Amino acid sequence: MTLLPEPFCEPRDADRLAESAALACLDACCQTLGLAAIQVPVPIETWIEHPLGIDFGFEAMTDVAGYAVLGQGRIRVADLLCHDELRLRWTIAHELGHLLLHKPEPNALRPDHPEYRHVYSNDRERQAERFAAAFLIPIGPMVATLLEVCNHERVRSEEALFSASRDTSDSARIWNDLFLPAICNRFRVTRAGAIFRVGELRLEDGAPFMLPKVLVALSA
Ligand SMILES: [Zn+2]
Repeated sequence: MTLLPEPFCEPRDADRLAESAALACLDACCQTLGLAAIQVPVPIETWIEHPLGIDFGFEAMTDVAGYAVLGQGRIRVADLLCHDELRLRWTIAHELGHLLLHKPEPNALRPDHPEYRHVYSNDRERQAERFAAAFLIPIGPMVATLLEVCNHERVRSEEALFSASRDTSDSARIWNDLFLPAICNRFRVTRAGAIFRVGELRLEDGAPFMLPKVLVALSA
């Protein structure tokens, strides 16, 4: 299976690894459950225990949204997230990324350590975020969703996709009015999650799918 369909491409090793781990994991879930295609929104809240077999539970915590115990297949999520479906989904996917991509480090800080926040922007965290994005917003269904919304709104998909990814006067409007709402609805992710997904995707010429200036404007 191709990791990323045209016109996407991922030149960064850590991101490619996260992307392929997410795809392999989705594939394995579909095979176990006998699904012909990836189900969206990806039912991670149920899949995390079966078929993924993770020891999953909630715990009272206020400093972090969740944590994974590497090497032990355990994920705990803040009980407060019970009431926030979208953050809950993203947090489970993020912690699953840690479990599948990272090995225990004897000297790693625990999430409840006061210094932990300072390392939040480290490579492991970035990779777990990329995994969450790729797992919850798989590239194939994402492209299909963008094409559907163009079709539904009767706009030419090639033009809309080109305008969205280039520095055009229409770029921010297409993301804001068409593509981001469609991604949020279809995949049950926050707007910030959808923006992260498309902002991290790279095109074959190395350019981001969503230009940084558009990303900054829409994140405000
Ligand atoms: Zn993390």
